[in-house]
Amino acid sequence: MRKVSSDGDYHNYDEYAHVKSSGSNNKSVDDADMGKGIRKESNSIGGKAKSSNGDGKERRGSTSKRHSTARIKRLIRQLLIELGEDPDREGLVDTPERVAEMYAEIFSGYSMDSELDVTFSEESDVVVAREIQFYSMCEHHILPFFGKVHIAYIPDGKVFGISKLVRLVEKYAKRLQIQERMTKQIADELKDKVKGVLVVVEGDHMCMRMRGVKNNSRILTIAYRGEFENREVREQVLSLLMDSSSGARMYDI
Ligand SMILES: [Zn+2]
Repeated sequence: MRKVSSDGDYHNYDEYAHVKSSGSNNKSVDDADMGKGIRKESNSIGGKAKSSNGDGKERRGSTSKRHSTARIKRLIRQLLIELGEDPDREGLVDTPERVAEMYAEIFSGYSMDSELDVTFSEESDVVVAREIQFYSMCEHHILPFFGKVHIAYIPDGKVFGISKLVRLVEKYAKRLQIQERMTKQIADELKDKVKGVLVVVEGDHMCMRMRGVKNNSRILTIAYRGEFENREVREQVLSLLMDSSSGARMYDI
């Protein structure tokens, strides 16, 4: 494996790098060195994200939603039986209902509208929104994966409100997902509204921690579009993003 940042050759692996989080990386990047008027929006903003529930934008009507919740309850009860459990014991009797309600929330991304059209007019060379928290569910194992999304974009005259970026992340995180696709989808939804977009996702996967080889690697995926296809522009912003507390290092694969 080659370290991406050393030779900068991203072109052979479809825009993705896998990363092992291995100890601290104390590399310091002086913001002034970036020279592109980069603006850091904020840290740890995902916790303030609004829920999409009840905003009237669900594609499915309330009747079919109720029906599917009832079906999920029955299926979870059946699953408990198949696992050898007694679904009527005290601790489990309400579990099917709790799971069905939880699924309505954590899979609400399918019916979310990211509302990206609302923007503010402001001049900025590069806007960086770092550490947008996300929680998603791996489609291979239906187990959580979660972490941070960093979005850098070169505005085309207007910038997005930070809540819109949080909502965009939730739209693609709150569904059965794989991290690589989520990274691409976020970049693709932004690419036509900006001159360039770079999306970096750091994820911890419970299916890796709890089963199989049981390792604590953190997966890092990258997608870039537009002006970030220029390696120099991309590396300048990537080095800023990678100066986060994660200590993640990128490797070619
Ligand atoms: Zn998985």
